[in-house]
Amino acid sequence: MTRIAFIGLGNMGAGMCANLAKARHTVRAFDLSKDAIAKAEASGATGAASVAEAVADAEVVVSMLPAGKHVLGVYFGPDGVAAHAPKDTLFLDCSTIAVEDAREAARQAEAAGFQMVDAPVSGGTAGAEAGTLTFMCGGPDEGFARARPLLEKMGKNIFHAGASGNGQAAKIANNMLLGISMIATSEAFNLAEKLGLDAQTFFDISSTASGQCWSMTSYCPAPGPVPTSPANRDYKPGFAVAMMLKDLHLAADAARAAGADIRLGEMAETIYARLDEKGFGGLDFSGVIKDVRGEL
Ligand code: NAD
Repeated sequence: MTRIAFIGLGNMGAGMCANLAKARHTVRAFDLSKDAIAKAEASGATGAASVAEAVADAEVVVSMLPAGKHVLGVYFGPDGVAAHAPKDTLFLDCSTIAVEDAREAARQAEAAGFQMVDAPVSGGTAGAEAGTLTFMCGGPDEGFARARPLLEKMGKNIFHAGASGNGQAAKIANNMLLGISMIATSEAFNLAEKLGLDAQTFFDISSTASGQCWSMTSYCPAPGPVPTSPANRDYKPGFAVAMMLKDLHLAADAARAAGADIRLGEMAETIYARLDEKGFGGLDFSGVIKDVRGEL
């Protein structure tokens, strides 16, 4: 059994931490929120009063934090993980952060004598609780091999995408595609409906024709055809507009730095940003169909 420090016990981290404790690992949990620590204790972890206390005898540190600045601060800031973790502790960051921040974190870890793996996830809070997340990892082979048995306790599909930062690259490229395809699917439903088809008829045809995609068959933005999609519960998330926008900002920044043409990605960023500015950041991102229909 592995001694794990878990840092960041929010919507995602809570379920992931619980699954590691359930697998009988020794988990010391830390968050800035005392309530979050109490919840982790109730799910089998031991609460820690500081990062230093959490990592003092850790073999692996797992983090699930909001953004790159939190990750760099928690690991390499004053009184951070790197200052207190034992030699050879593996750093495993599961947060979604900029590719460049992930690479910078890995560089700083290496300079301090540690291995770091970026392992962002898809699957949302339901996947975090059920232990069915997809992990996209970047980092050295040895670090990935050490991380894998723990990732398997929190997820179902585990990929090694290559060197440091490649996990983040896979995540933001995938989510950019998702953001675009949801808008495209919404436009297609709206057009078909305006031309006289009902949503179910268009779904029956397009979901078996060349336009079919995940946004249509698993997460249909039009109410009706896919009973489990947020469209049938008034677009309660799910995956909120604000979260999609965060990932599109990361994709746009990375594309600028890499010189990649993402015209549709930038358009998607503008469309979700407008939704967010209008106060719909908490709506599921498939609610973009309401914007396409001119209902917002
Ligand atoms: P959250 O805001 O619910 O949780 C973040 C937690 O980190 C909070 O409990 C906060 O108190 C804690 N935290 C912040 N700074 C800290 C510090 N310095 N020390 C200790 N704890 C600190 O966010 P979330 O929804 O759990 O998302 C976490 C990460 O997972 C983000 O990077 C997000 O983009 C990514 N993600 C989220 C989802 C989702 O559906 N929520 C899906 C995939 C990926």
